[in-house]
Amino acid sequence: MNTLSHRAQTSEYRFSAELLNTLRTAKRVAVLTGAGISAESGVATFRDPNGLWSKFRPEELASMDGFLKNPNLVWEWYQARREVVDSVKPNPGHFSLVEMQKYYAAEGSEFTLITQNVDRLHQAAGSQNVVELHGNIIENYCSRCKEPHEYVYAANPAQKEPPRCAYCGGMVRPAVVWFGEMLPVDALETASEAASACEVFFSIGTSAEVYPAAGLPLEAKRNGALFIEVNPNETAISRYADVRISAPSGEALPALWEAVMKK
Ligand SMILES: [Zn+2]
Repeated sequence: MNTLSHRAQTSEYRFSAELLNTLRTAKRVAVLTGAGISAESGVATFRDPNGLWSKFRPEELASMDGFLKNPNLVWEWYQARREVVDSVKPNPGHFSLVEMQKYYAAEGSEFTLITQNVDRLHQAAGSQNVVELHGNIIENYCSRCKEPHEYVYAANPAQKEPPRCAYCGGMVRPAVVWFGEMLPVDALETASEAASACEVFFSIGTSAEVYPAAGLPLEAKRNGALFIEVNPNETAISRYADVRISAPSGEALPALWEAVMKK
């Protein structure tokens, strides 16, 4: 029975020989991932309609203003998210991206993995040099003097309020990019360079509504890249995709990569 359903699943995918060959021989590949790939691991998207936190506006929970108004509330929200992230595991989509990185490294090709996700599931799977556009919720730093702080959720999950900075006494915050904040310059530059120089650009599980990340696939396409979108849902940029794989990344990426590796 399992075999049958497995067969039914994989037979849905028909990849052209041209696509597979392009992926086999590409010298520069860039990948952008978003909330969809994390959702497949059980990390709810920001606007979880049934969540405990749905009565708050995102700006109340994820902005400097919100943090200054109610530091304990914001800290608790991130502790709750850390509890979720701590309990989930990378899925086959994450692991396929690890395989792809290894393959392209062995070929002497460039592979850049850019993510909007803050949960570090790519790193947990084994991906290296992940470009984090929106920071991460694992690390922390002082909201006043910006000095990194050593607080680690797993070591003390019961921490109910923001720790204090050892240098200036300021409140410690998670190392995520909040509403109204600039994206890390280095990450954005790396992402933009990879997008404009690549031959193939994957957009995976991102709704492509949050700029500047949403501009990366189009930047790649303008520069002649093949643009592949993997998303079960249509997005704002689906119509620009050269190849659209309308499926969850945890199914589509392993199927695609298996086909690429099968010569
Ligand atoms: Zn400080």
